[in-house]
Amino acid sequence: MSTIAKNIAKIGERIREAAHACGRPAEAIGLLAVSKTKPSADIRAAHAAGVCDFGENYLQEALVKQAELADLSLIWHFIGPIQSNKCKTIAEHFAWVHSVDRLKIAERLSSLRPAQLPALNICLQVNVSGEASKSGCTPEELPQLAAAVSRLPGLKLRGLMAIPEPTEEHSAQHAAFARVRGLAEQLQAEQQIELDTLSMGMSHDLEAAIAEGATWVRIGTALFGARGYPASTSI
Ligand SMILES: *Cc1c(COP(=O)(O)O)cnc(C)c1O
Repeated sequence: MSTIAKNIAKIGERIREAAHACGRPAEAIGLLAVSKTKPSADIRAAHAAGVCDFGENYLQEALVKQAELADLSLIWHFIGPIQSNKCKTIAEHFAWVHSVDRLKIAERLSSLRPAQLPALNICLQVNVSGEASKSGCTPEELPQLAAAVSRLPGLKLRGLMAIPEPTEEHSAQHAAFARVRGLAEQLQAEQQIELDTLSMGMSHDLEAAIAEGATWVRIGTALFGARGYPASTSI
């Protein structure tokens, strides 16, 4: 077995144990393999071990790998910061975008989504760590943003995404993820916006995220090993 296949087996075990511990079906939690900075050969190995969904942060890098892997049927998720001038290419080349945090970007993605493709699946990125993070809308901005995005024809609003401030403290991990879940529940209860997705949990905190309702865990390091570069922009 390759190292990547062994890592995937271990992550699958962590997901099953975490789901079991909180009484959720393990099938409710999807594994999104975060392949940024990793070569196409690693993605091929992960796919051979049963993974279909891959997350990329950098558009140019993602396009190169998509071309190299065109023979596989992979589902591509964009999870990095989005510049306005990249919206067209993102709308053309991905099935999901997890990192939408302002209306202007959502409107561009919607209008630039090719008509022959299904609606682009969207998660709104929300910042639950205050000043510690610059990405994501604030919890206060979320209701209006969600209402507007849910009406855009080229998009399907699926749920929320968050990258809480990294901490080894379990109670802080749980609190941040519970906040995200609470915000999603509020949108459903108060605005009748139907959501089925919580994209939260990474290599070091997937257990806490699953306990608080994650439906995608985004796993890089535990699957592909440490990233050598570019350290300062890894999130
Ligand atoms: C890099 C990245 C991940 C993966 O983080 P790991 O700690 O390596 O598992 C998940 N989500 C986003 C948005 C990332 O940029």
